Amino acid sequence: MKLTGAVFAVALPFASPALAEVFLLSPPIDCDLTTDCYIQQFVDSDPTPAASDFTCSTLSYDGHKGTDFALRNRAQIAKDIRVLASAPGRIKGIRDGMADTGYSTEAADTVDGKECGNGVVIDHGDGWETQYCHLKQGSVLVKSGQDVSAGQELGFVGQSGKAAFPHVHLSVRKDGMVVDPFDPDGKTSCASPGDSNLWTDRPDYRSGGLIEIGFTDAVPKFDDIKAGTAAMNSLMPDAPALVVWGYLFGSQPDDILRLSITGPDGMIVANDVTLTKSQAQAFRAIGKKRRSKAWPAGEYLGDVTMLRGTQIISRQTTSLTIE
Ligand SMILES: [Zn+2]
Repeated sequence: MKLTGAVFAVALPFASPALAEVFLLSPPIDCDLTTDCYIQQFVDSDPTPAASDFTCSTLSYDGHKGTDFALRNRAQIAKDIRVLASAPGRIKGIRDGMADTGYSTEAADTVDGKECGNGVVIDHGDGWETQYCHLKQGSVLVKSGQDVSAGQELGFVGQSGKAAFPHVHLSVRKDGMVVDPFDPDGKTSCASPGDSNLWTDRPDYRSGGLIEIGFTDAVPKFDDIKAGTAAMNSLMPDAPALVVWGYLFGSQPDDILRLSITGPDGMIVANDVTLTKSQAQAFRAIGKKRRSKAWPAGEYLGDVTMLRGTQIISRQTTSLTIE
């Protein structure tokens, strides 16, 4: 039989009520995922000891059971970025009181069995559950048994429990089984990743990019970049060097970081740095030492571009004043 418009008109009213009952999620964090925060890790869709995200790319690690929505640095924890309920439901359990010290191998014992840190679990009915981990110490606002709506504040983003960087980890479960909200049918297809998803408005997938860039007067320490204390906005004319750095996530072999510093009198230094391996996070810096002469007063511009092949995947600029 040939399908006609009339057949579709009859079929559609039956399809709609079923679709309306589908479990849907909104983002668990109140920030702009293109500038203020980003997704560092997705659910591991690879059952072997290797790891892969739902696009068959590198943004996961073996056994990761959720999605990590990350802040740019630890200083952002002080800004009280809100963690939000992704769907309506009833609070099933909470934990609070753990310090935002982050994870180290020396501290492994203190988070043993409490890897989620300060967290919230919501029961959405029909076997659906969401869990929010690594919340800021003392920030959990809800109580067990309380009903919450989608988008309701649960607490603030922190770095409690087993967390190597500040973020909220969102786990989604159906009947106790982990579900990747970016690929809930579990049939990972590298050719058409995320052919289904659980989002009301799916966050863009970024396979890598710049987290933050900044100026310094020497090659910065990675710990200072991660802490959010490395970047300088002004320097004296006798600064020993001018350095621009780029902090990035999701590097792949042969990605290029193109860095440059331009001063009041023109280009000071520019270089392409080739990234040699796949890394969750890394940074690169270039700079120029001061010779006998002082740096001229004025505005300096730092420009960092991340390229994959010929494609620009991320770009940020920053400025510095020399008084
Ligand atoms: Zn996680």
